[in-house]
Amino acid sequence: MTISQAAANVCTVSALNTKKHQTTNSVESEVIYLPNTDCAIKSQASLSAFTSYRVGGAADWYVAPRNLEALQASLKYAKERDLKVTTLGAGSNLLVSDRGITGLVIATRHLRFSHFDPDTGQLTVAAGESIPSLAWAAAELGWEGLEWAVGIPGTAGGAVVMNAGAHNSCIADMLVSAQVLSPDGTLETLTPDQLGYSYRTSLLQSGESPSPGGERRCQRIVTQATLQLAPGADPAKVVAITKQHKKHRLSTQPYNFPSCGSVFRNPKPYSAGWLIEQTGLKGYQIGGAQVALLHANFIVNRGGAKASDIFCLIRHIQHQVQEHWSINLEPEVKMLGEFQAACG
Ligand code: FAD
Repeated sequence: MTISQAAANVCTVSALNTKKHQTTNSVESEVIYLPNTDCAIKSQASLSAFTSYRVGGAADWYVAPRNLEALQASLKYAKERDLKVTTLGAGSNLLVSDRGITGLVIATRHLRFSHFDPDTGQLTVAAGESIPSLAWAAAELGWEGLEWAVGIPGTAGGAVVMNAGAHNSCIADMLVSAQVLSPDGTLETLTPDQLGYSYRTSLLQSGESPSPGGERRCQRIVTQATLQLAPGADPAKVVAITKQHKKHRLSTQPYNFPSCGSVFRNPKPYSAGWLIEQTGLKGYQIGGAQVALLHANFIVNRGGAKASDIFCLIRHIQHQVQEHWSINLEPEVKMLGEFQAACG
């Protein structure tokens, strides 16, 4: 296997060594194979392909462990070298700076397994499982409870951290427990009460830095989640409801361009989309970033957007909505890395 194959196919090679190769933009990239695992850490790994916005620079170091042992070894590697750790799920709620991310980025998307327990009605999943796939799988079994989640293109881990929700339901409503890995490598099982859930937040987000820029404190990593569902319904009925939700989403939200979903939290009792639309910002564009025509709380990448375009559009929207309504729109999207203090 070549080094570039190994880099593209991380965590499949068992070896303990370091190799270097030249990337297309002439940055020297290194691949380090973690001892006693089948896991490779790659330097200068572009993150744009790992975020739904399709923007962002490189991670100093990037790893995508396939099991708990490899995840623990990755954390140990970071600790020994005093590297800041950033966790990535499906990257569907992230804006990664064009300057990239310092330290080690750990992607959980390859932590996979799911188990539907018919005795308890509980679904236990690894952090990297895709939420839409789980919603379809549950529906096809006739298990109710995840129909609302079909349009959320994230992982189970990201959904637990974000308290993802739609159609008046959210993860906190059905989470039985989450298994998390602490920075010191210990595993804990936490209940929703311990996670301090409210609208699109959890205490698991408290390691985030205020944007722009700034260092993050170490974040706990969700490795697994158990959800309470309701088995025993007619699969055709659950599939039909799931399809209905998907159809509704496709007709009301712009799934045809890269985005991060809703950019701002809804400042109750208002909806952020309504405020932005009433401010006349639908269609407003900076570089390749545009306030979506279909849904004003979405910023879409119309092609060739930079993270800085999206960042400046976020700031512009906040400024305009503040001027018109005296309301501060708080971003729901997580900004990672450094952004310029001022936009032109
Ligand atoms: P990421 O975006 O990768 O990460 C989000 C945050 O969670 C980051 O802080 C990251 O560090 C952290 N994180 C991720 N995985 C882990 C882990 N295993 N352990 C610790 N921390 C972790 N969201 C909704 O709530 N409702 C919607 O209806 C909705 N619709 C969307 C529609 C579109 C088209 C898109 C692109 C996004 C939408 N989103 C929606 C946003 C997004 O899908 C959710 O926030 C989702 O839960 C993020 O999951 P993720 O795996 O992509 O996490």
